[in-house]
This record gives sequence, structure tokens and C-alpha cells, in this order.
Amino acid sequence: MSDTPRRTGSCLCGGVHFVVTGQPKRVGLCHCKDCRKAGGSVYSAFAIFPRDAYEASGEVASYGTRSFCPTCGSRVAWVDDTEVEVMLGSLDVAPTDLVPAYELWINRRETWLHALPGTEQFEHDRPRSEEAEPPAPRPLSDAVAHD
Ligand SMILES: [Zn+2]
Ligand SMILES: [Zn+2]
Repeated sequence: MSDTPRRTGSCLCGGVHFVVTGQPKRVGLCHCKDCRKAGGSVYSAFAIFPRDAYEASGEVASYGTRSFCPTCGSRVAWVDDTEVEVMLGSLDVAPTDLVPAYELWINRRETWLHALPGTEQFEHDRPRSEEAEPPAPRPLSDAVAHD
């Protein structure tokens, strides 16, 4: 479809480019230790897309599931089998049209920051039950050991 959003992003030096197609599954802020250390800023703002929506070109290095540009060190994306997390700051157009709907690890939020109005607030990660695709419920009988 021609009106499918297509957002481009890149690292600081331009060695890595990526495209995300379609709307993100969710957009959030995170104050956790990993986000702070990985980005060097006091929180991260990110959008989660289905893995298939993401295409990157250029050489990336990785640390676990996090990828970054080996030349300039910019974070590029966090990729697993089903989803990709893109930093809002790595998108090419600023400001973006993406608005966070939730905040994670708010107990680690800097005291001079305030809860973003209208967002869901979580002490830690999002509860598993809130995932968009919960695991299929299992009949109780399956839980019984076979031997
Ligand atoms: Zn770079
Ligand atoms: Zn985090």
C-alpha cells in the first residue's frame, strides 16, 4: 500500500542506514541500567517494530542482541527473532511523529525528570501478560508429567 509509513534511520557517520516499514507495535521510554549504559544518556526512547519491518544496510557490530556502528559507535537497533527496537534518536527526521505510551524502570528515572503525561508507568519491565502476542493458553491436563 502506498500510504504505509516508511521511516529511515542512520548512524552518526552514515555508514549504517536502515528502514522500518509500517507503524510500530509500541513506543516507550526506559530508564533501566542497560538502556542508560548502552546509550550513555539517562534514558532511552524507542519504538518496537515486527522483525520483518526492519531492513539495514552497512556494516554493524553487535553486543548480544544490540547492534551498533563499528566506526562511530552509534546504536543502531536491538534485534531478536520476532522484534526490533529502534532508538527514536536514530531516525532521520526530527522530531519524529512517534509518541511514547509507557515508561519502564521509573524508579531509576532522574529526579529532575517527570512522568510523561498520559503514559503507563512501570516499576520494571512491562508485565509479560501485556505482550501483544501472549503465548497460547495451555490446557491444565498438559501440565501433568507424563511419567
Ligand atoms: Zn556510523
Ligand atoms: Zn531499558
